[in-house]
Amino acid sequence: MERRCDWPRRVNKSGTDDWQPPAEPYVAPQEQRDLFPDVSGNAINGLGESTVRRPEPIYHHDPERTRFGALQTWFHGLPGHPLIDQARRDRIPIMEEQLAPLAPQPEQRSPADWTAVVKEQARALGAELAGITPLRPEWVFEGFEITQKWVVVLGIAMDYVEQSTAPHPRSIAEVVRQYGRGTHVAKRLASWLRTKGWDGLPHGGPEAGPILMIPPALACGFGELGKDGSIINRDLGSCFRLAYVLTDVPLVADAPDAFGADEFCMNCRVCEKACPPDAITPTKHLVRGETKWYVDFDKCVPYFNDTTGCGICIAVCPWSRPGVAPNLTKKLARRRARQDAA
Ligand code: SF4
Ligand code: SF4
Repeated sequence: MERRCDWPRRVNKSGTDDWQPPAEPYVAPQEQRDLFPDVSGNAINGLGESTVRRPEPIYHHDPERTRFGALQTWFHGLPGHPLIDQARRDRIPIMEEQLAPLAPQPEQRSPADWTAVVKEQARALGAELAGITPLRPEWVFEGFEITQKWVVVLGIAMDYVEQSTAPHPRSIAEVVRQYGRGTHVAKRLASWLRTKGWDGLPHGGPEAGPILMIPPALACGFGELGKDGSIINRDLGSCFRLAYVLTDVPLVADAPDAFGADEFCMNCRVCEKACPPDAITPTKHLVRGETKWYVDFDKCVPYFNDTTGCGICIAVCPWSRPGVAPNLTKKLARRRARQDAA
């Protein structure tokens, strides 16, 4: 079967932006629309709902448990690309990695000590970012029960040159590689905790686990939510992926971080214009009791399927380019200081 996407839509080896919006708006193919359930994915996600509730599994979960399972199964049955297939094969040993046995006696330290050593260990294992937040019930997908109190969130940097080729298979292979690296770090960190007598439940993408990944990452200070639904970090921009470990080891929570990215998104339309199916909306929406940026699921998912992962919005975001995020953060801080002084 031939893919419909004319790879590569955008190849950028030099860091210059050579993306051109497609001349024609992307229209979801009938073959995919036939597999949509009777209910919109946006309704499943709680668009327009004013009450906080747990999310329903929708994609990248066991297809038997989700209302978009038929579409997901079709997507997983599509022929691969050699670059993506190789990245998936390279990930197999990580997926098969077993956790260390749980030591019988939990080692005792203060929460501050544990926090310092857990983060140090996460970084030593390869995470570029490590943060800690208490688990909230509204982050746990319906159908999953989690007993652990804490989420140790891990940020895994991506190679910008590879990511910037999105939606070329080079960028998708990079996403698979870095999710694999995140899974590896999460498993090693969980194993390390278990050798100290504390259980750890690791998870890395791209498959969804028992909890949402972005809300805990926002809560532990990884950055602000961008208009494209990805986090913008003050150092890495949007060019990173997430993994996590759930645990009961005593820890201290990190604070959220705000440095002006949300306001920047209000005045930026780069991802909106670049998104082929027009899934990125210019305003925030109420979603399960929270007003925030929201990507139209029904519009995004067919293009995501056609390209095996898209990622154009992350590639074109100005924050993603190497060195830009720290400079923009400083610029926004200077602007705020001038406004405060005026
Ligand atoms: S991943 Fe989805 S929201 Fe982002 S550019 Fe692609 S289709 Fe649009
Ligand atoms: S491209 Fe612009 S609007 Fe989109 S997430 Fe990045 S900064 Fe925000």
